[in-house]
Amino acid sequence: MLGRSSRYDSREGLKASARPPELHAYSLVVLALDDVGSADGEVLGPRVPSGELRRGDKAELVHKLKKHLIYLGYLGTDNLGIENNFDRHLKHAIEKYQEFYGLNVTGIVDMNTITSLRKPRCGFPDFLNPQAHSKSLYSFYPGNPKWTKTQLRYYIVPTTPDPCIPPIEEALYEWQRVTPFRFPIAGNSFPDIKFSFQCGQHGECAEAFYPESRSIAHASPPPDGKIHFNAYMRWSTAGDADAFDIKTTAMHDIGHALGLMHSAVEDSIMFSQLAPGVTRNIHADDIEGIRVLYEF
Ligand SMILES: [Zn+2]
Ligand SMILES: [Zn+2]
Repeated sequence: MLGRSSRYDSREGLKASARPPELHAYSLVVLALDDVGSADGEVLGPRVPSGELRRGDKAELVHKLKKHLIYLGYLGTDNLGIENNFDRHLKHAIEKYQEFYGLNVTGIVDMNTITSLRKPRCGFPDFLNPQAHSKSLYSFYPGNPKWTKTQLRYYIVPTTPDPCIPPIEEALYEWQRVTPFRFPIAGNSFPDIKFSFQCGQHGECAEAFYPESRSIAHASPPPDGKIHFNAYMRWSTAGDADAFDIKTTAMHDIGHALGLMHSAVEDSIMFSQLAPGVTRNIHADDIEGIRVLYEF
C-alpha cells in the first residue's frame, strides 16, 4: 500500500513527507556504513586513521560490516566470530564481494569498496548460500525454483501512481519479447505477479523500506511473484538524473520473479546496483540465464 505520507509528482517522483518512527535493523547497518565516511576522503573516520580497514583491525564498525555482509550473503552467520575483530572470515567475505563487483581483490576495505557498499541497490541479497558464491554471470535461487506455466497473470495494485503503470507494463513486454512467457492482465484474485509500492515494514517481507534505505525494490522468486518498490524513493519514467528509473527497476524485479538472481555483469538487468538516472535493458547474459533455467 502506498503510504499516506508519500505522493507522486511527474517531475519529482514519489516523495516522503514523514519519517517513520523506527528503523529496521538492515537500515541501521546501511546507515552505519554511511557513517563511516563520505566520498571526499573521510573514509572510515577517526577510529581508523589510515582510512582503510584490514585483517587484524579492531573497530565497532567491523561488527556492522559483518552483519551487512551476512545480509548480502557473503559471510555465513556461523562466521561472525569476535564481533569487532577483522578476522580471516571477514577478509574472505570482502574478497568475494570485491570479486563479484569487479573491484581490486585485496580483502581490504578501501575507498572503492566503501563506495560500492554505499550504492543504491536491490534489496535482495546477492547470494542466499554464502558457501556457493563465485564470480558467476547469471545465477538462480537455491533449488532453481521456476514457473511450470508460461501464462503469468499480472496485477498492479490500484494505489500505484498512474505514471508508473505504463513503464511496468513495458517492462513485462520486454521480457515477453525474449522468452516464451506471456503476461495477461489479471484481477486481484491470485495473480502470478503482483506489483505494488510499499513503505516501512510491510507484509511478510524481511526487509522494510525507509527513506534512508539503500534498497530501492525487492521481489520474490517463483511461485510467489511479489514485486515491491520502495515508495520513499524518487522514481522517474524518463530517466531523470535524480530519480530511479521505474522501467529498469521493474525489469530487474520481474527477472527475480521469473527465477533469476543477481548477475555479476554490470550491464545486465540483473546487476544488483542501480544509480539514479541510469537505465538498463535486458542483456544477453539475462537471456542466457533464463534460457538455461527454463531450457528453451
Ligand atoms: Zn535484485
Ligand atoms: Zn516487500
